[in-house]
Amino acid sequence: MADPTQPAPPGAGLAGLGVSQGRAAGPVVRMAPPPVLPDPRQVADPGAEAAMVVKALESVTADLRQRAATAARDARGGDNAAPAGDDAAEILDALAMIADDPMLREDAEAAVHGGLDAPHALDTAFTHHRDTLAALGGYLAERAADLDDLKHRAIAACLGLPMPGIPAPGHPYVLVAEDLSPADTAGLGTDVVALVTEKGGPTSHTAILARGRGLPAVVACAGITALADGTVISVDGKTGQIGVGLTDEAVAELRRNDREERDRLAKSSGPGRTADGHPVKLLLNIGSAADLRPGAEGVGLFRTEFLFLDRKQAPSFEEQVAAYAEVFARAEMVVVRTLDAGTDKPLPFLGLPPEPNPALGIRGLRVDRVLPDVLDTQLDAIAEAARMTSADAWVMAPMVTTPAEAAAFARRARARGLTRVGAMVEVPAAALLADRLLEEVDFLSIGTNDLSQYTFAADRQHPGLADLLDPWQPALLKLIAFCADAGRAAGKPVGVCGEAAGDPQLAPVLVGLGVTSLSMAAVCVPSVREELSRHALEDCRKLAAQAR
Ligand code: PEP
Ligand code: MG
Repeated sequence: MADPTQPAPPGAGLAGLGVSQGRAAGPVVRMAPPPVLPDPRQVADPGAEAAMVVKALESVTADLRQRAATAARDARGGDNAAPAGDDAAEILDALAMIADDPMLREDAEAAVHGGLDAPHALDTAFTHHRDTLAALGGYLAERAADLDDLKHRAIAACLGLPMPGIPAPGHPYVLVAEDLSPADTAGLGTDVVALVTEKGGPTSHTAILARGRGLPAVVACAGITALADGTVISVDGKTGQIGVGLTDEAVAELRRNDREERDRLAKSSGPGRTADGHPVKLLLNIGSAADLRPGAEGVGLFRTEFLFLDRKQAPSFEEQVAAYAEVFARAEMVVVRTLDAGTDKPLPFLGLPPEPNPALGIRGLRVDRVLPDVLDTQLDAIAEAARMTSADAWVMAPMVTTPAEAAAFARRARARGLTRVGAMVEVPAAALLADRLLEEVDFLSIGTNDLSQYTFAADRQHPGLADLLDPWQPALLKLIAFCADAGRAAGKPVGVCGEAAGDPQLAPVLVGLGVTSLSMAAVCVPSVREELSRHALEDCRKLAAQAR
C-alpha cells in the first residue's frame, strides 16, 4: 500500500529546495501582494461611496483586533510561544486603533464628498495622515510606514481583494508567498506550521529565520503560489517535496511521524564528540533570546541585526544592553556578531542609500566606514551587558576583508574590556589571509553562506544557483581547510557558523578539516551530535580528504 504521508505522485506534487528540516501539513494560505489602485471612477452616489469607506475601515480594524487576540494567545502558549508575541499583540492593537481613528474616517468621507471614489478617498486620507506624521519626525515619523500598511489593507478590503501582509486565518496553516522579507518572517505567529516560497535561495535570511524557529520551509518552489487557498499540502523541509491534496488521514500520520522523529532527536544530549572523544563544540545560531534552547554548549552566532530588522530609529544603548544581557544571562558562552546590515538584511534605521550592487557594497563591518557611531554604541552595549551578567562574552565582526580591518575592530572591542575578539570569514580574501587575521584576533568563525556566495559569485538568494552554493563544493572546503590550518598553527579556535554547520553529513568532514566548533539552528543540533558520535577523528580526516 502506498504510504499516505509521502508526497502525492508526480503531477500532483511540487518540489523546491528544502531549507529548514521537519515535515508539516496544513491548508495553504497565500500572502497577498499590496493592491494596485484602479483608475478613478465617476461617483454617482457619494452616500454609498462613503459607506464603502466606513465598511473598509471597520473590516481592517476587526481583522487587526482578531490578529492581536491570536498573538496574545500565542504569547501565553508556553514553550512554543511566538517570539515577542506580547509585543506583536500590542503592535496590532495599536494599528487597530489607528484604523479606527474618527479623524481618519472623517478625512476619507470628506474626500468622497469632494468627488473621489472610495479607494481613492482612502488613499488620499491615509497619505495625508502619513505625511503629517512623517513631518513630525522622531517616534511619530517611525509610525508613518504603518499608515502605508494600513492604507494597503483598507484599499484591499474596499476592492474585495485578499488582505496583504501576513495572513491571520485563525487556524494553523502553511504560509505560501512569492517571497518573504526577513521582517515578515520574524513576525510570524505560531499558527504558521510551514513556509513555502516561489523565490529565495538556500541560505537566504528568510530560510535562516525559519530554521531558527524550527519551522519546516521550502524555497524556490515553482508553481506554489498557483495553489488555491485552503488546498491541503504536506511540506518536507529536508527534501523540498510538497505533496498536494492530502487526505485527513495522511495529514494526521505525517504529523505523528514528525513528532516521533523530533522526540527521538530531542533525547540526544551532551557535548559534541567524535566516536573517539575528540571534542567539537556544538553551538547555537540565534537571532534573539527567543531562539535559545537547551542542549547546546553555548551560542556560536548571535545575529544581532535580527533584533532590529523593522526599526526605523536606531535602538538605544539601554535597549541594546537589555537585549544582549537577556541572552548572556541564559547561555554558557555567547559569540555576539556586531550588526550585519545590508543587501538582503536592510536595517531601515541606518538610512543607507540604495546601491547598485548591495552585496558588494556597504554591508557588515563596512557600515562603520560611513556610520562609526553605530559600532561604538553597540560595542559599549555588549561590554556593559557582559559586565552586568559576568558572561563569557565573545564578539566578532561580519564581512571582515583585510587584516587591517580585523586589527581596527579588535582594538575598539578590547578598549572596552572585551577580551575574546574575533572575525568572521565570509570573504575569500579573509580566508586566504587567515593566518594574518589570527595575528590580530583571538578566533575565526567561518560564515559559509557568504563565503560560498563570494567564492562562487553566486547570489545566495538565487533559486537557480543552489548547486554552486552547495557547501560540499571542493573550493569552499579548501578555503575552510586553509582557515582551520591557520587556527591550528596559531593555537586559536576556528569554527563554522554558516548553514553548512547544521548539515549532519557534512559535520564529520568539517571536523576532519580541522574546524573546532559548529554553530547551527537548535533544530539541527541533535542530528549533528548523533552523526559526529559515529565517526572517529581519523575517519573524519579521511572523509575530509575524499570530499576535497
Ligand atoms: C554566513 O554568511 O555564513 C553567516 C553565518 O552570516 P549570515 O548568514 O547572517 O550572513
Ligand atoms: Mg554572512
